[in-house]
This record gives sequence, structure tokens and C-alpha cells, in this order.
Amino acid sequence: MQKGNIGVTTENIFPVIKKFLYSDHEIFIREIVSNAVDATQKLKTLAGKGEFTGELGDLKVTVNIDAEAGTITVSDRGIGMTAEEIDKYINQIAFSGAGDFLEKYKDDANAIIGHFGLGFYSSFMVSDRVDIITRSYRDGAQAVKWSCDGSPEFTIEDVEKAERGTDIVMHIADDCKDFLERQRMETLLRKYCHFLPVPVVFGKKQEWKDGKMQDTDEDLQVNDTAPLWQRKPSELKDDDYTKFYRELYPSADEPLFWIHLNVDFPFHLTGILYFPKIKSNIELQRNKIQLYCNQVFVTDQVEGIVPDFLTLLHGVIDSPDIPLNVSRSYLQSDQNVKKISGYITKKVADRLASLFKNNRDDFQQKWDDLRIFIEYGMLTEDDFYEKARQFFLLKDTEGKYYTLEEYKTLIADAQTNKDGQLVYLYASDLEAQYTYIDAAKGKGYNVLVMDGQLDTAMLQLLERKLEKSTFARVDADTMDRLIEKDGAKGEELGQERADNLSALFQTQLPATDKTTYHVETRAMGTDAMPVVITQSEYMRRMKDMARLQPGMAFYGEMPDSYTLVLNTDNRIVRDILEASEQATGEALKPIEAELRGLNARKQVLQAEQDKKKYDEITEAERSDMQQCRDQIKEQEDKRRDVLAAYGTGNERLHQLIDLALLQNGLLTGEALTRFVKRSVELL
Ligand code: ADP
Repeated sequence: MQKGNIGVTTENIFPVIKKFLYSDHEIFIREIVSNAVDATQKLKTLAGKGEFTGELGDLKVTVNIDAEAGTITVSDRGIGMTAEEIDKYINQIAFSGAGDFLEKYKDDANAIIGHFGLGFYSSFMVSDRVDIITRSYRDGAQAVKWSCDGSPEFTIEDVEKAERGTDIVMHIADDCKDFLERQRMETLLRKYCHFLPVPVVFGKKQEWKDGKMQDTDEDLQVNDTAPLWQRKPSELKDDDYTKFYRELYPSADEPLFWIHLNVDFPFHLTGILYFPKIKSNIELQRNKIQLYCNQVFVTDQVEGIVPDFLTLLHGVIDSPDIPLNVSRSYLQSDQNVKKISGYITKKVADRLASLFKNNRDDFQQKWDDLRIFIEYGMLTEDDFYEKARQFFLLKDTEGKYYTLEEYKTLIADAQTNKDGQLVYLYASDLEAQYTYIDAAKGKGYNVLVMDGQLDTAMLQLLERKLEKSTFARVDADTMDRLIEKDGAKGEELGQERADNLSALFQTQLPATDKTTYHVETRAMGTDAMPVVITQSEYMRRMKDMARLQPGMAFYGEMPDSYTLVLNTDNRIVRDILEASEQATGEALKPIEAELRGLNARKQVLQAEQDKKKYDEITEAERSDMQQCRDQIKEQEDKRRDVLAAYGTGNERLHQLIDLALLQNGLLTGEALTRFVKRSVELL
């Protein structure tokens, strides 16, 4: 037996491996098994070139657990190694500048292993001792056993070995005994070795017999050596793709469709991406795209390699050209990776475009499921937006779908306002906004459904991108205001009467911290509803966005503010107004006279002040103004008291307010009970 020291130049590597790679140490199995696969592939290559003429025989790789001995053994019948080759490939580790590199990438086992070519040594993450027992394929080669306990010292000796190839025997450390559990190892093999190109066998298939699980005669092969993405798309049927999908994600729904990726230049990349049907957010997080390097599983963290919006897709990407032995941040700036990401985006967009073009019906059927991907992509990738605007669909309340171009043509005549702006009307809740939708349709307008998670952001994007276009939710204002047109309006009330009417309703509106109301009057035509409640588009969008963006929480805290618009053309509203004028006219007369005088005075004072610069206004002028304001306020309060006293007993008025609140889901609890009682009494 011989002894020697492993050629580590700066530092002892073993403690480093154990310390830094703790979280990822299960990948040792990938490293050892893929070395065995490589050795097997090399032998096949030699045989192909005629440099190896012996029997190839059964070339499977086997993984065995010996629970009693506490070992995991990975065996292959590949090229094996001579003592000289062990010395060259195993004993000499070039390891300069290690300290800095390790410090930088201590959380990234792939980077460390890749950087130093330490695949084999990753076995020391889980082992107290590792033996290599190997015999080279060369004629008459002497088998040798190399052994090392994790110190830089190793031993090497000649041994007997009947078969060509290599056994890696890992004596598992006490704190890693869970790797000796059959179930755990099978799970790891299926994760890391699922698609290796040489059969990997993990013991025998088991079956339930005589009250316990027992081995059968059949090998348990854990991998699929010819994964679908490596095959030619022209040879494959739909069925093959859906079957493969189930192999990857056993519990997921059928995918919507898929894209087979295949490029040779300027980089190599193959893979299949599936558009999943998403049932829940949980599923989104569990099933991910898997990244492979020559059929070896690398990671399912593909952020930075595929564009963000495509991380929601499922499937596999296999590329030897993605530099895995680097850090994540480097990856994102890597030119190759940028090209790959751009290529994938383009492929996805092209596929969607051709689906749309060749079978629009089918595309429309899938739209509701596809929408989230497409919107996410349009919002985050400008390149994708440019392609997607051809097939991005808008859906109206009738369930019809339109492209942006089609929709523009559809509404151009009816929904252009007096300033030449095209107004896109939308609803986010068909039930709750029913009356508003109905009102819009009554005017010959079309209403879109925008109820997706990303729709608020999406319509802001479209407002930026489409020329002279705005989006307005159907309840954001009264119809005549949402799409303002030139032309005759109904008869307006005078200012004073309108103020009184608003004040009357204002006194009877519920006041809470969470909602505020503001009353306006407007002549909306005799056919329109007496009272309409609207919610400002701007504030509502701010609140919607606030829910998605933590920095905007301030808006989320603001109360919901609604506008109650009284239709002064409506008969009931007119009746209420006239009855109230009769009842309160006498009491209000002196107050109104006061107010008229005060308002006139205020206007004069204001005009005086407007002539001057701010600091030229005298103290006396300021106090005059303040006094005038206070007096107006005083009179208004008086007026309010008169109207409030009258309004309290006016059941028709309450009925109108409550109906409007009810229509918007704003009437609850005690107020709702009162409404129902009153309704019954009015019958
Ligand atoms: P890498 O595989 O990145 O070169 P490793 O540390 O995993 O680094 O392996 C070092 C070398 O040891 C390999 O390149 C190969 O020559 C040799 N080797 C490792 N495992 C085997 C094996 N099972 N059979 C034959 N040679 C092997």
C-alpha cells in the first residue's frame, strides 16, 4: 500500500466542503452518478471509434445502499481508471485563490463544484470515508483501491476486481444517515438523475407480499434515458407531450399547449415549455421549470435565465451553454444568458401568434387561462408587448373577444368623446355593476370585462400605449360624463336650488370612517335612474395598485369615497325637491338672503385679493375674508339644520338613498334592516 497527499495548493478542502455546502449537500448523488454515466458514455464513444473492441455488455449504472455497513455504492462499467489516472484526475486538485472564491459563493454549491471541478469530492459532504475501487478498460489493467477519510491523506493499493469499471463506496457520516433510507434516496435519484442518458438502477422493484414490501426480480430503473425534449418534434404526437408532462408533474392538470425548443446556433438549447392550467397560487409555486445540463438536473430556480413572466410556465430547458459555475448575479449579465432569454421570449410569442392565427376559436377558449401569462409578459417585457399586441384579446360582457385593433374599430363611432378621446368602458364585477353595465348598453356602448389580477396595471399600460384612449369603469361617473358629448343637455336647476337639494341628501347619508359621500346634482334625462352612485376612477385605481405594491400602502388606508349623483330630470327627485321647498321655504328664505349677500361680498373680497401679490394683502383684508367665510359657514350650518330636520322624516328620500346604496352593496347591517322594514310599510 502507498500513501500520499492530495495536491491541494492553498487550503484543506474538506472542511470547506462540509461547512459551506451544508444546505445543498444532497447534490453529491448527482455528481457521483453523473461521473459514472460519463465514464460509461466515454466507453461507448471509444467503442464507436474502434478504440475499445471488448464486450460492452450491460452498461447500466447501479446505486446500492447497505444499511448495515452504512454505505452507498455507485457502480458503473465504464472506462475505469488506472493508478496513474487516479493520481492525475483525483489526487491533483488545482485549487488556487480558493479562499476568496469560497467566501463569495459560499451559498452556491453549483458554482463551487463547477469552478473547481470538484464533482467527485462532493461525496465528502456526506461521507467519513470514500473508496474508489476501479479497473480500467485497457487490456490487462490492474484494479486499484483508493481510499481517503477526508484529510488530505489518501492510500492506494492493488486489489482484485472481476469487472471493468468503477465502484464509488461512500461511508456515510453519522449526521447524514438519512441518505441511507431507501425512500429518501429514491426521491433524490428521481430528482437529480431523472433523465440521465444511461440506465440508473436502484435495487429491485418492490411489491407487497406476505404482509410486507419485498423485492421482485425486476430492476428499479429510476431514469428515462431518452427524454422527450431530445427527440425530434416531427416524430412526436400530442399524446407524447401530455404523457411527458404527467411524468414531470404527476398532480397537475392537462397543459393548455406546449412549445418544443430546439436551437443549435449561436448557443445550444433544447427543451419543452408547457403553458399550464393554473388552479391555485400554491401550484404555481410548486411546479417549476427544470433546468438541465446535458440531461443532468441542475436546478429549478430559473430566475435570471428565463424572463420573469415565463417562470410561471412548466417544463424543461436543457443547455450546456448556460454557465452554471457562476453566481446568480453574474448569470443575469452574461451575454449568452441574455440571448437565451431573448430567444425563449421570441419563441413563446411566435407560438402564441401562430396559435391565434391558425385556430382563433381554440385560442379564445384558452384565453382566460392564458391571459395572466400574456399580461405579465406585456407588462414586464417591451419586446413581448410588441409581439403580443397582435393577439392580446379584450373580452366584453357578452363573452365576445376582440383584438385591440378590432375593438378600436368597434367602439370608434359611439365611444369617442367630444375631445376626440376613445373611452374604453369596463366592468370588474358583472353582478355588482349590473345596473351601470345596463345603462351603458342602453346608450349603445360596449363594456369590457376586466376582472383579472393584473388588469388594473394592464389598462394603465394600454392607456400609455394606445393613442388618445382612456379606460373608465362603468361606475366611475354617470354615463353622460364618462363619455362626454357635445349637444343639448336637460334642464339644469339654478345654483341655489341645486345646493339645497344636495344639502338635503347630504344630511341623510350615512357617515363612517371607511366611506365618505359627496352629493352632486345633474340633469341626466327623464329616463335615467333618480340616483346613481359613482366611484372616482383615479382613487379606485390607486387603491387597487396599493394592494399590489407595498410602498403605496398610504392609498390603501384612505377611505372609499363615493359620489351620489341626483338626476334632476327624474320625476321622483323633482317631487322631493318641490315638497322640500314647500316645507322649508319659509325657514330658508332669510338664510338664503343672508347667504346671497355674504357670497357676493366674498366674491368682491376675493377679486381684491387676486389683484395683489400674496404678501401685499393686508392684515385687515385677511381678517375680513375670514369673517366672511365664518359667516357663510354659520348660515350653511343653519340651512343644514333646517334641511336635516325635514329630511329625517322623508321616507321617499331615504328610500332613494338606500336603493342606490343597495345597488352598490353599500347597504348593510342595521341600515339594511331599516330599509326592508320601510319598503314593506311603503307597500
Ligand atoms: P469532473 O467530472 O468535473 O471532471 P470530478 O471531480 O467529478 O470532476 O472527476 C474528476 C475526474 O475523475 C473525471 O474527469 C474523470 O476523469 C475521473 N472520474 C470520476 N469518476 C469516475 C468514474 N466513475 N469512472 C471513471 N473516471 C472517473
